[in-house]
Amino acid sequence: MSHEADLQTLIASVRLCRQILQAKALDRFRGEEMLPGIQVKQDREIAAYVRKIAEALYHPVGTCKMGNDPMAVVNSQLQVHGIRGLRVVDASIMPKITSGNTNAPTIAIAEKIASLLVSKSS
Ligand SMILES: Cc1cc2nc3c(=O)[nH]c(=O)nc-3n(C[C@H](O)[C@H](O)[C@H](O)COP(=O)(O)OP(=O)(O)OC[C@H]3O[C@@H](n4cnc5c(N)ncnc54)[C@H](O)[C@@H]3O)c2cc1C
Repeated sequence: MSHEADLQTLIASVRLCRQILQAKALDRFRGEEMLPGIQVKQDREIAAYVRKIAEALYHPVGTCKMGNDPMAVVNSQLQVHGIRGLRVVDASIMPKITSGNTNAPTIAIAEKIASLLVSKSS
């Protein structure tokens, strides 16, 4: 939460969730708001709640991103730029985080490179 924009986005997301849950279609399902609770209304109060409860959710990617720009570490065959005989094959090569969870895409990355290596060696 050291970037104000992150905090503002999360404050807006709390407000958006509340707005969605006020939809008429949810009238018969909606109970009382448990978290943060209806008494939490001001931005600064929502910010305090967000700071207390937010976490990173265990999906770090992109520290060895694939690409050809100056920040890229590996090429499209996951070979490290400038070093022969070294590949990186894991979640770190994702140029951007996927919109869903990262385990299946990581397995897909590994399967793809495994078949590439098998076909090269046969
Ligand atoms: C708590 C938690 C919950 C998650 N839940 C989900 C989920 O529900 N769904 C989902 O899709 N994704 C989930 N993820 C994310 C998913 O687990 C990762 O995206 C995925 O495992 C990344 O695979 P990886 O091969 O890049 O890294 P890792 O799975 O972290 O593999 C890295 C491997 O390298 C080994 N290693 C590290 N250093 C060395 C070294 N120096 N020498 C030798 N070996 C080394 C480690 O022991 C490890 O086995 C979760 C992650 C966490 C932490």
